Amino acid sequence: MPDAPFYRNGLRFSCSRCSFCCRAGPGFVFLSKADLLNISQRFDMMPDKFIQVYCRWIDWDGGARLSLKEKTSLDCIFWKDACLIYEDRPVQCRTYPFWAHMLDSKETWICATEECPGAGSGELVSGEYIEASMELERSARIVTKKDLEDERRI
Ligand code: SF4
Repeated sequence: MPDAPFYRNGLRFSCSRCSFCCRAGPGFVFLSKADLLNISQRFDMMPDKFIQVYCRWIDWDGGARLSLKEKTSLDCIFWKDACLIYEDRPVQCRTYPFWAHMLDSKETWICATEECPGAGSGELVSGEYIEASMELERSARIVTKKDLEDERRI
């Protein structure tokens, strides 16, 4: 039987609202199909128009993945003193910092706590919630240029 994951009894995390994960540094905020539909609907825009205004394509694994744009300050396009789309924020944002590669081992979690001041302190988050977040992040199907081109051909 495999060993129980080190986070089985939960880990501490409370967002400290430092905005580290939203601004002041380069990064990608990839969008799933559900994210694209939810957020474009929020702005009452067609997805194609939303992509044109708020998104960029990132070369990835021989293809291109859809990500939110960054401002010239390197803040996320939706950061303005807080997340402007918080209720509909992408799955990548909702599941942070419980991403599979950050929970690969105690060591990778310690690295995560060094970057995110909310990780490793605050509320005790259950092992079940952590597992569910990891699964959500892992299974999110990020929009690719090829997916959109294939859809247009149908
Ligand atoms: S969408 Fe919102 S939560 Fe996600 S990085 Fe941008 S500002 Fe932060």
